[in-house]
Amino acid sequence: MKVIVSHDVDHLTVWEHRRDLILPKFVVRSGMECLLGRIPVSEYGRRLRGMARNQWQNLDELMAFNRERRIPSTFFVGVSNGKGLAYSVEDAAYWIRRIIDGGFDCGVHGINFDSPEAIREEHRKFRSLSGLDSFGIRMHYLRTGPDTLSHLEKAGYCFDASVYAPRDPYRVGELVEFPLHIMDDYLIYGGGRLQRASFGEIVEDTRKIIDEAERKGLKFLTLLFHDRYYNEAFQSWKNWYIWIIDYLKGKDAEFVGFREIAETIK
Ligand SMILES: [Zn+2]
Repeated sequence: MKVIVSHDVDHLTVWEHRRDLILPKFVVRSGMECLLGRIPVSEYGRRLRGMARNQWQNLDELMAFNRERRIPSTFFVGVSNGKGLAYSVEDAAYWIRRIIDGGFDCGVHGINFDSPEAIREEHRKFRSLSGLDSFGIRMHYLRTGPDTLSHLEKAGYCFDASVYAPRDPYRVGELVEFPLHIMDDYLIYGGGRLQRASFGEIVEDTRKIIDEAERKGLKFLTLLFHDRYYNEAFQSWKNWYIWIIDYLKGKDAEFVGFREIAETIK
């Protein structure tokens, strides 16, 4: 089985959220996870201290891990704001450059999914910031409408990775759709609003998805992990990512990139 790893960059700094409700919600949710014993007090402390550092991304650390494990991943960075994605285009530009210079693939974390003009505008903006001619997209919160894929194709995207479905990649005209199979937050929250109590349960459910993909004979497995959680303040999340990479390596999976595979999809 071939595995494609990707990362959505939802946050860069704490300060970018000074005008929304993300910070109070984060403190309350983390406090509840701590009170209910879902995370240790030390982890809660790290989350609060992390806010004072004004850093809500772990991109360099995650790139270093992927480099060490030889994982050719794609990072999706937003170039407009919406639904809690609030960083500036200047900050986005810095990280797009740094990701590409770091030897990784970079694409758009899309905000607009129903207006063809707004979709074209995000494509144009990312193209000029990144200097890339060919790149893909994943919608923030996987938002899609009935015409999203066709709008993306017309805007010139080479692939999309926003459809959550247990199937192999397929073409929509010039665009290749890579359905998403494994997503960190679905597994860690397990449908609830707080982190689940047992790491074993999270791992068990992840194994089930992989087994099911193998049973169905899928040639590709796609995996999303948010860089935000590659940190000791989110120990279970970070442990889960390291676990799944090593678990798949143990199954002799081959790690590949979206763009090289897109060219081979008929
Ligand atoms: Zn997102």
